[in-house]
Amino acid sequence: MNQSPFIDPDDCASCGECCKSFRIGYSKKHDKALLSEVERFKLLDSDLIKVHEDKNGYWVEFLIACKHLKKDEKGCSCAIYAQKRPELCERYPYAGTVECPHMKKQSQVRPAKPAI
Ligand code: SF4
Ligand code: SF4
Repeated sequence: MNQSPFIDPDDCASCGECCKSFRIGYSKKHDKALLSEVERFKLLDSDLIKVHEDKNGYWVEFLIACKHLKKDEKGCSCAIYAQKRPELCERYPYAGTVECPHMKKQSQVRPAKPAI
């Protein structure tokens, strides 16, 4: 069961876009040693890893699909959905997320369920 307060699982279009890349966020308030990881990511010689910057921090984006993403005639689905997906997957999409085309408007947000 998707626990995200920002989408009703029934509204998911099974497009799979949320499983085709991963992101890690870094705040500019993090200490210099941690932020040096971002500098190292920029050095990697790959088009599959991108570093984005905004006024608050950095997003390191891995343009690599999850190995558990599967596709059939009904669309995309998660091969480990019933077993145990990572909690971050259960709670996707997050507040402020723009990639999911089916996220409900903030005014329709359901109360968040407590973490298990
Ligand atoms: S991006 Fe949104 S609509 Fe597409 S599979 Fe993910 S949750 Fe569903
Ligand atoms: S574990 Fe499942 S829900 Fe999470 S990214 Fe992979 S395919 Fe998507």
